This record gives sequence, C-alpha cells and structure tokens, in this order.
Amino acid sequence: MNIVLLGPPGAGKGTQAIRISAHFDIPHISTGDIFRRAVAQKTALGLKAKEFMDRGDLVPDEVVIGIVKQRLEEPDCSTGFLLDGFPRTVPQAEALVDALTVGGRALDKVLNIEVDRDELIRRLTGRRTCRGCGKVFHLIFDPPKSSTTCDICGGALWQREDDSEETVINRLKVYEAQTAPLVDFYRAQGLLVAVDGRQPVEVVFSRIDEILHA
Ligand code: AMP
Repeated sequence: MNIVLLGPPGAGKGTQAIRISAHFDIPHISTGDIFRRAVAQKTALGLKAKEFMDRGDLVPDEVVIGIVKQRLEEPDCSTGFLLDGFPRTVPQAEALVDALTVGGRALDKVLNIEVDRDELIRRLTGRRTCRGCGKVFHLIFDPPKSSTTCDICGGALWQREDDSEETVINRLKVYEAQTAPLVDFYRAQGLLVAVDGRQPVEVVFSRIDEILHA
C-alpha cells in the first residue's frame, strides 16, 4: 500500500499518519520530522533546513527529493509506505513518480485532508510540544494542566518556531501557491480521495480506514 497524505499544515496529517502507519503496518515517512530531527542534531542538513522552516518556507526541492528517494529504497518500504508532507511541489511529485517507476512501483491513493483556513490558524497557533518526550498538546483541543509543562514527563513545553502566527500565515500562503496544485495533479491521475479533516480525529481515521480498505 503506497500512500500519500496531502493537505495544508494543521489538517492533522501527522496525527492520522501515526494511526494509519500502525494500523496498516507501513512506515510513516514525514519529511517535516526528518528535518526537525536534523535541526535538533545540528547536522549539515539541519543547518540548511532550519532557515527555511523558521520562515515557513519550503526547503529546496533538490534537498528534499534526495532524502525521500533514499528513504524509499530502504527495505521496510518494499511492501508499502505512507508519505506525510511530501510531495509539496509539482517537481517533487514528478520526482516521486520517477523514483517509484524505476522500481516498478506506483502510488495507490492520495488522501487529501481538507480543513478551512480559520480552523487551520486556530489549530496551528495553539500547538505546544514537549522538549522532553515529544508529546504534542494543544492549548484548546488537548490542553496540558499547565501551559508550560508536560503532563507526562514534566519537560518544558514549547511552540515550534514555525507555529507562530506570522509564520503560520506564511505557511498557508506557501501551501496555496506551491502545494495546492497537487490536488489537480493527483485528481487527473484518478488517485485523489478527499477526506473531511474538520471531524474528530477518530472519525477522520475511520473514514480513512474505509477508503484504504475499499
Ligand atoms: P511539516 O511538519 O510537514 O509541516 O514540515 C515542517 C517544515 O519542514 C515545512 O514548513 C518546510 O519548511 C519543511 N518541509 C517538510 N516537508 C517538506 C517538503 N516536502 N518540501 C519542502 N519543505 C518541506
């Protein structure tokens, strides 16, 4: 099962990806997570990616494409994968087709998680992540007991640099300009299935489960 999760930042791709990956036993490949790890470890890739991420801009295609191609060659991807946050531009989508075709593979479905703009801004600016264990809270939807401390491990909660209001607005603009064209790209190939992302997490997941079993 070779799946792409499409949708604007804040649509819940990461949350759904964790469930889909566990349920269908396929690796979850999040380019955002790969970059955040690289930033935390201060690798050359991380240093390069950080300036783009902090502004809410996309990391250049050639950097992202190389990383994903390499990841897709790993043995755990041979029976399926779930891409979350990639592709984000038409050149990335074209590079993905090429990379898969070489190995006789193809995408099975592209799930487009849809959420309106006001809701995305509300979701993204309220997100808080624990520096200790990585648990993600939300000041409105899943509030921690204290807005600065993790309920699980007592670690400090922080707001991702790219979740500040100014950066969120830029990320949505970048999404509209560079990523939204992929909706038509995948619709034209008959791969696109829309999912209403405004519903509760469990409802969204059961809809996805239904689509992937169809
Ligand atoms: P995400 O967690 O998917 O929202 O990604 C966080 C940030 O990582 C994005 O705002 C981009 O700066 C960068 N990023 C992640 N995936 C990609 C991609 N496919 N192409 C370019 N930049 C990306």
